[in-house]
Amino acid sequence: MSDLNRLDRAMTEDITGYKFDFAKEALQILRELGDADRLITFAEVGINRRRDEPAEILQITEGRFTQAVSNFIKDLYRENPGIGSCHGMIDPFFGLGEFVSLYKDEAGIGAFGKKYKDLLRLLILYHEAGHIAISQDYSKAKNECAADAYAAIRLLQRFGNDAVPLLSMWSWFRAWNAALHGDREHLSTIVIDHIIDKARQGNYDGLTHDQVVKYARDYARFAGPSERELRKLKKAFKKIPEQEKYTPAMAHSILEAGLRSKSQLAFYIAAKFFTPFMNPEGVEFYQQLSRYDAEMQNHYKTLIESRAGINQIPQVARRLGYKPASRLRRAFSKQVKRSQVNVMSSLQVSVPAGQERFSFDYR
Ligand SMILES: [Zn+2]
Repeated sequence: MSDLNRLDRAMTEDITGYKFDFAKEALQILRELGDADRLITFAEVGINRRRDEPAEILQITEGRFTQAVSNFIKDLYRENPGIGSCHGMIDPFFGLGEFVSLYKDEAGIGAFGKKYKDLLRLLILYHEAGHIAISQDYSKAKNECAADAYAAIRLLQRFGNDAVPLLSMWSWFRAWNAALHGDREHLSTIVIDHIIDKARQGNYDGLTHDQVVKYARDYARFAGPSERELRKLKKAFKKIPEQEKYTPAMAHSILEAGLRSKSQLAFYIAAKFFTPFMNPEGVEFYQQLSRYDAEMQNHYKTLIESRAGINQIPQVARRLGYKPASRLRRAFSKQVKRSQVNVMSSLQVSVPAGQERFSFDYR
């Protein structure tokens, strides 16, 4: 393997002092992607949604399509004001001119805790870059899982296991969006939980960029949800009203739907969503505190535990503890030999650093 291909970070960085620098990160990713023909453009976009102002290009990398991308993105965001960060092509016919746009949304990003604001922007940038690095071979859902897997591995490689708390919240965020907002296309929860489990057993040091890409594809293929599973999941959550104000009853109804469902994936997603609610300090949703007393916490914990036993959800458990294919296994840390997984520990979600409790106020 060539040295150029190796990610040029020998040691893990200190996560606490990380400051996101769009231009620096974008240029680094372009180097790693080996964009010799300068076909890829990264743009940072600022929009003021409340005042309905047009999109503004804050920063953009120099490439063959810089001007075209700039115009394309302005139109895209003007016509779809709700759009976030994205990846696309400006000339799908010839397959040229790929771009990544990163939306600079200070308010939304604060939801994962102020201390993770910069890291979250990096995670999103890596996710979009993952779409470019990994060819779009599978279903939409598996492609999204591959992009999240790429982002998760990159963060673990860079910051070591200090990246786990943020990734656990990202996994939760994907479950939340699937259960409440019907976003099943981005349901990467099991893939991320699998990667976190692997990181706890070993590490992702020393992988080349090509190997990261291979892992991400492989994980998405085996641990990502199938179309059939996603249809069952939709059925399980169909009675959950979308866009409602969050109440303890709402959280409870999601858990109930998951426990009742025959879908193992629906159960896992519901249990993941509910896990932070079982913390003694409770959860804050939209400035509203939900807290169960010790008796209720135990009640829910027992319900989840009895269903989460490895024999109860073998399809999910197998994928959480999935072993990489043999062509990849050699490159992976030798410490990871067996696939053993504790479903209850995979369900854990971190509380944002410096915060008293898990809180969420995304919109
Ligand atoms: Zn995506």
